[in-house]
Amino acid sequence: VGINRLQKLRPTIAESGLDVLLVSLLENYRYLSRFTGSSGWLLISDSHAILATDSRYTEQAKQETQDFEVIQIKGELDNWLPQLASDLRWHKLGFEANHLSFAAHHKLSENIKAKQPNLELIPTTNLVEHLRSIKEPGELELITKAVELIDAAFEQAKTIIHPGVTEKEAAWEIEKFLRQNGSEGVAFDPIVASGPNSALPHAKPTERILRPGEAVLIDMGARIGGYCSDFSRTLYLGKEPKAVSFQLSAIYNVVLEAQLTAINRIESGMTANQADRLARSVIQQAGYGDAFGHGLGHGVGIAIHEPPTLSPTSTDCLLDGMVFTIEPGIYITGLGGVRIEDMVTLEKGKVKVLTRSKKDSFQLSASL
Ligand code: ZN
Repeated sequence: VGINRLQKLRPTIAESGLDVLLVSLLENYRYLSRFTGSSGWLLISDSHAILATDSRYTEQAKQETQDFEVIQIKGELDNWLPQLASDLRWHKLGFEANHLSFAAHHKLSENIKAKQPNLELIPTTNLVEHLRSIKEPGELELITKAVELIDAAFEQAKTIIHPGVTEKEAAWEIEKFLRQNGSEGVAFDPIVASGPNSALPHAKPTERILRPGEAVLIDMGARIGGYCSDFSRTLYLGKEPKAVSFQLSAIYNVVLEAQLTAINRIESGMTANQADRLARSVIQQAGYGDAFGHGLGHGVGIAIHEPPTLSPTSTDCLLDGMVFTIEPGIYITGLGGVRIEDMVTLEKGKVKVLTRSKKDSFQLSASL
């Protein structure tokens, strides 16, 4: 598999006019080499595939990677890369401009100027991310497992989430369930946001006690075999319809309609901003355009957020094999928010929804 990924990447490196690509982003070097350590660099040219890491990781790297020659390095990039580039006669070296820090780049170029002036540093963006965005069958399988675990976690969460527990308690129960059932850590800290807190799209769980008559927004993700899932639902705690819940349930219906519209009408070949507009126009027509402040969704894989980006300004193209979220939301300060998030893949031109959890009504908590 690793060899396949390298073979797919090498033409892109050549087309970009590079002799070699320096890969520094953890998700990218993990994808290409299978090395799971937290410090490492890949150097990929037509004839070389090198994994450079320090003494903490060289043994692990040799065990985990088959297609890369592992070399042990010392110190920062500028300490070893110019000499290696000179030995291998590389002149045009691409680096990941979204990731390599300004400070690292600065030190490296100072060193190159002094010691090897004919080595040129060339910024690249998303070369490996583009490969990663189209999932192989094995990757889709792992993602599906991570989605299934989240569906089970949601069933469990519904038995925990009731008036009287705090957001933090509920979030911890979710995390415990995920880890006890095979999640490698969590894809991100679970969000449980109640009442007015649900109006914050990325709220942190607090000591706030859940109360009847409120919305509770849950956002959580699992990780299986290195692959993430992402999921949101909004529950309503209570039976008696209060003024607040009338407005919340109207909002819920708008968000659901926006989400279903996107699911039914997104097609392969569309740009990601067209996809975003499908859902956004439903929310705008209902008068809540300003209350949907984030993009419609994002790719999910080794990283919880990765290309494609579904947003009003994204120029990404949606293609078969991509996996991403569809997660419109409406957030009203003081009242609360609603988000409904499923994971989907594009298959034979159409959206296939991976998430199974119900979303057809503003669900009452089962424990009431
Ligand atoms: Zn998400």
